Amino acid sequence: MEFVQPLSMSEALEAKNAHPEAVPIRGGTDVMVALNFARSRPEVVLDLSRVEELDDWGTEDGLVRVGAGVSYTRIIEEIGDKLPGLAMASRTVGSPQIRNRGTVGGNLGTASPAGDALPPLYASDAGVEVASVDGSREVPVADFILGPKQNALAPNELISAFCVRRADGPQQYSKIGTRNAMVIAVSAFALALHPEAGRVGACIGSAGPTPIRAEEAERFAQGVMEEGELWASRAAIPDAALRRFGELAAGAARPIDDVRGTAEYRRHSVGVLARRALGWAWDEYRGVRGAA
Ligand SMILES: Cc1cc2nc3c(=O)[nH]c(=O)nc-3n(C[C@H](O)[C@H](O)[C@H](O)COP(=O)(O)OP(=O)(O)OC[C@H]3O[C@@H](n4cnc5c(N)ncnc54)[C@H](O)[C@@H]3O)c2cc1C
Repeated sequence: MEFVQPLSMSEALEAKNAHPEAVPIRGGTDVMVALNFARSRPEVVLDLSRVEELDDWGTEDGLVRVGAGVSYTRIIEEIGDKLPGLAMASRTVGSPQIRNRGTVGGNLGTASPAGDALPPLYASDAGVEVASVDGSREVPVADFILGPKQNALAPNELISAFCVRRADGPQQYSKIGTRNAMVIAVSAFALALHPEAGRVGACIGSAGPTPIRAEEAERFAQGVMEEGELWASRAAIPDAALRRFGELAAGAARPIDDVRGTAEYRRHSVGVLARRALGWAWDEYRGVRGAA
């Protein structure tokens, strides 16, 4: 196995261009599992751990750009106030050791339907910045994730960063698993209130081949808020509307039966998570509940 260790992003892109078959590795928390279990035997491994550009994050005009190599621990500690939904999801990832090494770039690379970083990115319309020797392009996250373990990277491209608007309202992330920590989601739900635009972002995790935007539920919630002028009044959302939001979210799921849960349980739990997430986020917006 050839081991290539670039020291800068330009070296990394040159190396990926020269070895399009190379498997990138950053935190290694997915790649090393695959190697240890002999699920994959790449001829070339491209180690990105020395590429400092991938460690950077910054904000410009309300947009947060986070390098693909920023760990979950750093997202929680350094960017949690700007991206609270992603920080909540990051807290549910693995253990402290996994959060210290694992990255959102790696989560995007793996493209698992259960990837915890993904639903918050969908709920806030994040873009994935990918780069090659020919330049860089930004792809909406929903177009980047193509299917289970499939993404839109060309063979000579690397993920350089993701870009997402700084939160302008409360956000939530909930996950159901068979225990409280170190668990792959049975189902998950991310919600982002965007009061400035009068919009609600909602995304289902682990109950379909990719994360799925709950678009009908989003439109329904926006309609309820517009009709009742709730964004301005901050009055409570009626219980019946919260329940309907949950039903519509459950209806958008495309779950399967597997070792972690049945399709029926997944669909039901998505409805419960969605109803609770909207209730919690709205209570926080109204000021009747502290920031989660
Ligand atoms: C014990 C354990 C618990 C876990 N728990 C969770 C959990 O709760 N939730 C969850 O979502 N995941 C979990 N995972 C999976 C893993 O930690 C995450 O998917 C993590 O985000 C991977 O990040 P990484 O930097 O370690 O990726 P790596 O393993 O380095 O890479 C993962 C994939 O992304 C590609 N890649 C990495 N960086 C780039 C880049 N810059 N450009 C292009 N491709 C790239 C790699 O080639 C590979 O295909 C767990 C893993 C373990 C071992």
